[in-house]
Amino acid sequence: KPTTIITIGMAGAGKSTFVQRINSYLHSKDSPPYVLNLDPAVAFMPFEANIDIRDTVNYKEVMKQYNLGPNGGILTALNLFTTKFDQVLSLVEKRSDTVDYVILDTPGQIEIFTWSASGAIITDAIASSFPTVVAYIIDTPRTSAPATFMSNMLYACSILYKTKLPFILVFNKTDVQPHDFALEWMHDFEAFQEALATHGGTRDAEGEPTYMNSLMNSMSLVLDEFYKHLNAVGVSSMTGDGIKEFFDAVEASREEYETQYVPELERAR
Ligand code: GDP
Repeated sequence: KPTTIITIGMAGAGKSTFVQRINSYLHSKDSPPYVLNLDPAVAFMPFEANIDIRDTVNYKEVMKQYNLGPNGGILTALNLFTTKFDQVLSLVEKRSDTVDYVILDTPGQIEIFTWSASGAIITDAIASSFPTVVAYIIDTPRTSAPATFMSNMLYACSILYKTKLPFILVFNKTDVQPHDFALEWMHDFEAFQEALATHGGTRDAEGEPTYMNSLMNSMSLVLDEFYKHLNAVGVSSMTGDGIKEFFDAVEASREEYETQYVPELERAR
């Protein structure tokens, strides 16, 4: 059975570039993936998707028809598409003997997928049919401030909590900034707390750490637990650096899916 990679990321993190990169990497390995594009508003895709939400719904028409703004249009387009997702699944099933990977590209506005009923329905449907992993794309240069880093990790944590799927943190744009600071903060929370104190630490008039300071310290302890259940890789979607390591992490995550997610799925049935 093919492994499904659900790509998620904040707008601008480089998700589209990343999807193109892993797509062309797999083509170069003579293992072209099956690509599902769930972003109704994506403008340009160098590799054509096998299934494209844009072939089914035109979000601009949806905006006009329901009198919605762009985000409402995209969300409604995704909802309409989700009503037909069983058909999508059976198309993927038909190809499951011939492809190794299914790539799911999600809407550019992350919350449209991560905080919608449709996103949850699609994720659950695909994850109960195929080994599935979540790739969370991070803009490494823009997450090097300790407080931003923590917000980003908390966001990742909330997605992990919602999907309960094997999770890969993909630190993108390592050509601009290497991701070693992130790995250090993840492995050594004292180093992170020190960075917090230097960059984001606040003290009140008496020189005591503020509420915000102690909140951040407690949260970094929570995250320490979260990090233990994650794979992290650094990539450059621009140069292709680290893409092989990403696929190594996908293989490890696939095993995790079999040992952790499948038993849970069977209990729920
Ligand atoms: P998306 O909104 O997450 O889909 O992000 P895009 O793929 O459109 O990328 C946002 C910007 O980041 C674009 O200008 C890309 O060229 C740039 N970008 C994406 N990946 C990389 C990378 O690995 N290195 C560098 N230097 N820039 C990147």
